[in-house]
Amino acid sequence: MRINDQQLALVDNQIKRILASGNYYSKLYQEAGIEGVSSPEDFEKIPFTDKADLRNAYPLGIQAVPDDEVVRIHSSSGTTGKPVIIPYTQKDVNDWAEMFARCYQIAGITSSDRIHITPGYGLWTAGIGFQAGCEKLGAMAIPMGPGNTEKQLQMMIDLKSTVLCATSSYALLLAEEINKRGLKDQIHLKKGVIGSERWSAAKREYIARELGIDLYDIYGLTEIYGPGIGISCKGQAGMHIFDDFLYTEIIDPQTGEVLPDGEEGEIVITTLVKEGAPLIRFRTHDLSRIIPEECPCGLHYPRLDTIKGRSDDMFKIHGVNMFPSQVEEILGMVDGVSSEYKIDIAHDEMRNKDIIMITAEAEGRVDFMSTGETIRNLVKTKYNVTPNVAIVSVNTLPRSEKKTQRVFDHRGD
Ligand code: ZN
Repeated sequence: MRINDQQLALVDNQIKRILASGNYYSKLYQEAGIEGVSSPEDFEKIPFTDKADLRNAYPLGIQAVPDDEVVRIHSSSGTTGKPVIIPYTQKDVNDWAEMFARCYQIAGITSSDRIHITPGYGLWTAGIGFQAGCEKLGAMAIPMGPGNTEKQLQMMIDLKSTVLCATSSYALLLAEEINKRGLKDQIHLKKGVIGSERWSAAKREYIARELGIDLYDIYGLTEIYGPGIGISCKGQAGMHIFDDFLYTEIIDPQTGEVLPDGEEGEIVITTLVKEGAPLIRFRTHDLSRIIPEECPCGLHYPRLDTIKGRSDDMFKIHGVNMFPSQVEEILGMVDGVSSEYKIDIAHDEMRNKDIIMITAEAEGRVDFMSTGETIRNLVKTKYNVTPNVAIVSVNTLPRSEKKTQRVFDHRGD
């Protein structure tokens, strides 16, 4: 949905504040001749910004208020280069807690809940965000932080924690431990609020089943407050984003064109009332789409679909944007196939056509020929792209503890 008048007025105010502050963006906007916005067209002319700008402005170049108004900073750890520092005013901290408390409420969590918080505290925005929202709601925070499984389980049992906040990997680890030690009868968890990294349906079902809980995906990034700017609801179809604090667009990551609601692309977020470090049209590199239909839960906050991956991982074939998670999803539907795979893309000069080759692993008990055929047909039906599929034995493809490279594009070779 296009930016509305109220949001436009807030962005206009943000731009004027940025210009008056003399911060990093004030110089960029002055050079671009941007003085404010009074129409959606004006808004769409504002250049995008992303993490690279925040690094250029290190340490406090994006601060848009006097020093004495800053009450806290957070930092996102870059995998490469300098970290990014985000300053917060008291209002920013309050607004974030307000959004987070709403998230808990949407998940049906109340002041009588006991919220077990395992994300880390410190420079990272995670733990403290979960805690501030919990206190705002009036629930009991159990500020564990990560690690020390022994103690986590003991506190969970003794304090009768009812809500688990965790990354999906850590929730999985705890679920496995609870299962292994036969502690299921002693835990009182009802709900899980899980960080919105992309995770598989199988992992999700395992956690929900083993812990006997309902799961909610929470969205956020350090550059835009932190976790808690949106959450999935009872409808379990996408995450509601708070449009009184943020304006969300979806763009084509390659061309920067704004896409209509319903189409998949990169999430771009504008802060409407942030004081310490306002950001206009910030590229998150997260891939999703805006769900155009009204949510059955009755809330009117716009919805983002489950995060599909990162735009950095996207590839284009036969004019169709694809990402590894789509292939992963298909592989998860086929019996005997592991979760390891690789995708090669090349250009067939003879036929002047791009070709895509998926290499997947299968267990010895299944027929490789028919398994390959099944994958080929599923991809063809779902994405209208016909891949070549090679099936190899399990443990043939390399394993990596770090992020595994899945896509090898040979078209420029
Ligand atoms: Zn809903």
